[in-house]
Amino acid sequence: MKNIILIAAPAAGKGTLSEMLVEKCNYVHISTGDLLRDASREKTELGEKIANMLQNGDLVTDEIVFELLEKRLENKDILNGYILDGFPRTLEQAKKYDELSKKLHIDLGVVIVLDSEYETLKKRIVGRMLCPKCGSVYNTLTGVNTPKVSGICDKCGESLYKRSDDNEESFKNRYDTYLEKTKPLIDYYKEKGNLYFVNSEDKEEMLKSTLEILND
Ligand code: ADP
Repeated sequence: MKNIILIAAPAAGKGTLSEMLVEKCNYVHISTGDLLRDASREKTELGEKIANMLQNGDLVTDEIVFELLEKRLENKDILNGYILDGFPRTLEQAKKYDELSKKLHIDLGVVIVLDSEYETLKKRIVGRMLCPKCGSVYNTLTGVNTPKVSGICDKCGESLYKRSDDNEESFKNRYDTYLEKTKPLIDYYKEKGNLYFVNSEDKEEMLKSTLEILND
């Protein structure tokens, strides 16, 4: 399968699309946000440093991100195709990733930009609730995936929690960072000729358009 790079504002659907592609096409999902959150739980100086950066919604330094990513890409499970979610986030990261992929003999694949309205994104973030046990995602504001019993996972009965950066202030910071640092990647990949746009307001339509691109 073609490797995929997802470019999208916070909560534009990277996680949701990745989950569907893992299920349907056996993709390996690599989220730098997840790699960082895992690393931030380690009770080390580095772990605490990452935790602070995440809580403020600031980007984590390239040094840390590349160290975690390179280690992940050395795993053979990526050879059938993988999705990069949340990376690259800056032009600098995109250029360094070109070098890293050459070094590891990895194909860049396709770049997919997910499009949704600002207000949709804000509601998805501020209302987002997660299950710590099975990873299910709920929302208390959008009317989609509302938990049947408030604060409880429908599937496994576990208490739901909020990510510490899922608040309005951090969302605004993350969105502004996206506009300033990540959106310029669109022109970068457009020039390479492997860029596609997908509307992500509706989950099923998003999947359908993506599969068309992958099967092209
Ligand atoms: P979101 O969809 O809200 O952007 P992510 O899980 O992708 O959530 O990222 C959460 C946080 O992890 C970001 O706000 C940022 O602090 C950090 N992060 C994730 N990926 C990167 C990256 N490629 N470079 C720098 N920081 C990153």
